Amino acid sequence: MSNDIITQLLNLPQVFVNKIDIVGNTTIIYLAREGSNFACSCCRQTVSQGYDCRTQYLRDLSCFAYNTYLCLDKFRIYCPSCGVRVEKLAFARVFSHHTTRFEDYVSKLCSILPVSHVAELTNLDWKTVKEIDKRYLEEKFSHPDYSSLKILAIDEISYKSGHKYLTVVLDLIKTKVVWVGQGRGKETLDKFFCEIGNDKAKQIEAIATDMWDPYLASICQHAPFAKVVFDKFHVIAEYSRMIDKVRNEEYRKASESGKKVIAGSKYLLLANDKNLGKNQKERLKELLSVNEILSTVYILKDELRMLWQCGSKEEATSFLVDWVGKAIASSNEELCKFAKKLMRYSYGLVNHAIYPINSAKLEGVNNKIKVIKRRSYGFHDITYFILKIKQGFP
Ligand SMILES: [Zn+2]
Repeated sequence: MSNDIITQLLNLPQVFVNKIDIVGNTTIIYLAREGSNFACSCCRQTVSQGYDCRTQYLRDLSCFAYNTYLCLDKFRIYCPSCGVRVEKLAFARVFSHHTTRFEDYVSKLCSILPVSHVAELTNLDWKTVKEIDKRYLEEKFSHPDYSSLKILAIDEISYKSGHKYLTVVLDLIKTKVVWVGQGRGKETLDKFFCEIGNDKAKQIEAIATDMWDPYLASICQHAPFAKVVFDKFHVIAEYSRMIDKVRNEEYRKASESGKKVIAGSKYLLLANDKNLGKNQKERLKELLSVNEILSTVYILKDELRMLWQCGSKEEATSFLVDWVGKAIASSNEELCKFAKKLMRYSYGLVNHAIYPINSAKLEGVNNKIKVIKRRSYGFHDITYFILKIKQGFP
C-alpha cells in the first residue's frame, strides 16, 4: 500500500504519512506536516513558525490486529498574545498521549463495559482508561440542562459500606439523573436549588422523596410551590424495617417453642405473598396464628399499600385516618410510633392522589445505581462514580 493511500485511510488533517514500521504487534506511522500553521493551545490563533519541537507518539485506533501509534514532531510556538506555548493539534487534546478519536472509542467502550475489561481489550492500564472516560464524562456533563424540571424524585444512596451518602435528583418525566451531590443534609440539597436558580425551582410542580426532614426543609425553602409526595417505595421500606424490629422484640419475649416458630421468619413477613412457595406459605400461616401482634403488622402492611390506590385527596385522608386508628389500637410501641409518624407526614401521603408518581421507576433507578456502584466504586473516585450515575440515565 502506498503512503498516499494510508494517508487517505488515516483521514487526519494537516498531516501525511512518511513511513510505516511494524514492531511485534505494534504499528508506528511516522507523520509529516502539511504547511506550517500552528495553533496556540491557549487562544487558538495560528502562527506560521515553530519555536522548537520534540517527537511525540500518539496512540490511535488499532490498524487490523496492530496497536497503532502515530509519531510526529510536536511544536512549541511563540504566540503574540500568550508567549511560548505548546501547539494545539486538530486531532488530539493538548497534553494527551492519544488521539481524540481513540479516546472517544475508549469512552464508548466504557459506557457498556467495566473499566477492567476495556483495559484488557485496548492494552491500556486501567488508570489510563478511567482517566480517559472521566475526562470525556466531565466534558459531556459540564452544561446540564435544567430548563424543563417539573416532576422530580430526590433520593439518597449510600457508599463506603453505608458510611457516606450521595443525594440523587431525578427528572421523573425523562427518567434522567439531573444532579448528584455529596451528603444527604439540607445543605446538600440547597446546593442543587442554588445551581438551578430561583425561577426554575419555583416551576417545579411535585417532588417524590422520603420522609427525611433535611430534604423537606430545603424543598420548603427553595421550591415552595412543589407538592411533596412520599412514595410507596420509601414508606413500605420503612414499614418493613419496623416489622423486623417488632419481630425481634417478639422473638426475645417468646417461649422456647415460640422462638422456633419466629426464627428465620424475616423473609416470610416481608416478601410479597405471591412470591412465597407452598411450604413458606404454611410456615407463615402458623406464625401468624400463634403471634397476634405479628399477625396485625402483617395485615396492616397489605392494607397500607392500598393508600396509593386512592383516587382523591379526600379518599386518601379518610383511608389514612382509618389505618392509623387500627395501628394505634394495637398498642404496640413500634407500630404506634410508625402510625404517628404517618400522621405527621400525611400531607405528602395524600398528595399521591394528585401526583401519582410511579415508585416502580424509582426502584428501578436504585437497582441500576447499585450495579453502577459495583462497577465503578472500586476505584474510590467519588467524582467518577457520580459521572457514571449521570451517564447511566441518559
Ligand atoms: Zn495564544
